[in-house]
Parts: sequence; structure tokens; C-alpha cells
Amino acid sequence: MIDIKSLYEDELKEEMKKWGEPAFRGGQIYQWLHAGVKSFDEMTNISKKLREKLVESCYISSATIEKKLISDYDGTRKYLLSFRDGEKVESVLMQYHHGYTSCISTQVGCKMGCTFCATGMSGFSRNLTASEMIAQLQTEQEDNGIRISNIVLMGMGEPLDNFDHVIRFLHLVSSENGMNIGMRHISLSTCGLVPRIYDLAELKLQLTLSVSLHAPNDRIRSRTMPVNRVYGIDELLKACRYYAKATGRRISFEYAMIDGVNDSDACAQELADRLKGMLSHVNLIPVNSVKGTGYQKSKRDRIRSFIAVLEKAGITATVRRTLGSDINASCGQLKRSSEREDP
Ligand code: SAH
Ligand code: SF4
Repeated sequence: MIDIKSLYEDELKEEMKKWGEPAFRGGQIYQWLHAGVKSFDEMTNISKKLREKLVESCYISSATIEKKLISDYDGTRKYLLSFRDGEKVESVLMQYHHGYTSCISTQVGCKMGCTFCATGMSGFSRNLTASEMIAQLQTEQEDNGIRISNIVLMGMGEPLDNFDHVIRFLHLVSSENGMNIGMRHISLSTCGLVPRIYDLAELKLQLTLSVSLHAPNDRIRSRTMPVNRVYGIDELLKACRYYAKATGRRISFEYAMIDGVNDSDACAQELADRLKGMLSHVNLIPVNSVKGTGYQKSKRDRIRSFIAVLEKAGITATVRRTLGSDINASCGQLKRSSEREDP
């Protein structure tokens, strides 16, 4: 069976030509798929005969809502979604003043094993296809009657460990006849798979690259993020510098503040020294304490002091606004359940 929603528009046109159809038929089908139809029968400008042929050899990826949690504070919605093989991921829809942002998953689980992360603790099952990433967005749009304007690849999974499907998704979702969400409205977060950062730089996409740093040195980082034992901080920051230069885009560094682990003034100074002279921004996130990790978020005064050290060194930093904190909606720790459920 062909995963038809993962095909590029020109691939779909080629496929139609192979079927003895005019190429523009592929364009029509492409538009239907990305408008969110769930069956070929809804494609009213396609002949019944062709629709029957499509049903026989292709499937349309969709996501089924298994659970939905809505934050009392800010309306953030967390979804547990399932795909055709029953695998489940979570996605989060957030509303900001400029529109809706969706935080989607790129894999079922994750191989990277970060010690503070709920996804990392639950192991890896499989990669998502491009169409399954699109289906997450379409399901949220349909369920809320809204248009999503921004996407962050910060849900379950390591996007650069599923490189080809993720790149395909980025091209599909930003295509004019697709959902048409511009690359400038998309952020991709990585734990630091160095060779893939170079690969991404070559593509010169205008998306925002977020790098999950979470520590100022190899000693701390290798303890919390096993990937650091393969690609250390020097190597990672070299790749980041290359990326910023190649794309002209500022890199955003994520730094989860963990009480007593990475939040001292000395850590802040070390971080500032490392990032000096680089096109960057630091996002500080009080860590979400996930059961079983033993980590607690840093105290408010500690965070303030940490920022002061960074700012004094000329590094811009902000504390990320955490939406949906009552429903554990923070991406990357999506697997925990909450007491409030929407039927
Ligand atoms: N695998 C990618 C993207 C998904 S995780 C990555 O690691 O970057 C998205 C973000 O959530 C990452 O910055 C990750 O480090 C962070 N994260 C994971 N668990 C967290 C937790 N318990 N508290 C705060 N941030 C967390
Ligand atoms: Fe994977 Fe990102 Fe979680 Fe690390 S933080 S285990 S890379 S999802």
C-alpha cells in the first residue's frame, strides 16, 4: 500500500502518469489530501473509477484521538493520538496571541535516553512517517475548527534520528498546495546529533533550530544526556556555529534548569563562555520533574541569578513560558497521565 499523503506533489503527479492519468490529477489529489480528507470518496472532482483504484493501492494516514486533556489555566490541549497500527503519540496545541502552535511528535518513543525525559525513559518503538506528522496537525485543526500557524518539533522523539521522514514532512507542510506553513514558522529541536546538524545546514531551510544543551560541560551533560558521550559539547557547538553561519539563522539553546545539577552561577558562567560570539539565544526551562528521575526544578531565585550571570556576559536568555503546566503538557515529557480528562 502506498502512503499517499507522504508523497510530494510532483511524485504524485508522476504516479498518476504511470497510471495513465493526466499529471494535474495528482495535483488535485494532493490538495484534497492536505486539506484533510479522510477518504478518497470525498474527492469529488476525481472519477469514481480512479477513486476505486486509489482505494485498492493507497491509504490515507490519519490520527485518532484516544484522549484529550485541556488545561484549566490557558486552554492548552494535549492529545493522545493513535495511528493505523495502534501506536500512540502525543501532540500539544497551544494558543499564543499570534495564533495556534502545535507541538508534534516525530517518533514513537526515543532512543536517546535523556535521564530527565519521560519519552527517553519509555524506549523506542518506531519512526513516524511524514504523513503521520501531518495527520497530527490535521486532527488538531479539525477537532478545534482552527488553523495552525506555527509548528514545533518538540514532542516525542528525536527529529534528526528520523531525518528523511522529517525533511519530507517539512517540505510537505510548507508547500503552497499543502498546509502552506512557512519554514520561518517551524522550529526543530534536537539533542545534538552532530552529523545530522551538518546535513540539515546543507539544506539551508529557514526554520529555527533549537539545540537541547541542558549543561555547560561534558561532565554534567554526559550524565543527563547519553548522546553527549558520542558527540561532546565542543563538537556540538562547532556544528552549531557552522549551522548559524551557513543558514544565517540564530540558534536557540534549550536549557532545562535542574535543582543542584546544572543551575549554579559557575554553570551559567561556563555556559556564557562557551556561547560567546555566537548567533544564539538561551531558553531556560524549569525542568518538569518526571516520576522516577529524582530531578526537581530549580528555585526561582536560582534561575534569576543564573540569568543575571548570562546577561552580564552578553548572552540573551529568557525563561520559557510554560503552558498547560496543570496537564503535564510540556513537550518531551508527554507520557504522563493527568487527573483531568475530557471524554
Ligand atoms: N528530542 C528532541 C526534541 C523533543 S524533546 C530534543 O531532545 O531536543 C523537546 C524538549 O523538551 C527538549 O529540549 C528536551 O530536552 C526537553 N525536555 C525533555 N524532558 C524534559 C523535562 N522533564 N523538563 C523540561 N524539558 C524537558
Ligand atoms: Fe529523546 Fe529529546 Fe527526550 Fe532526549 S529529551 S530522550 S532526545 S525526546
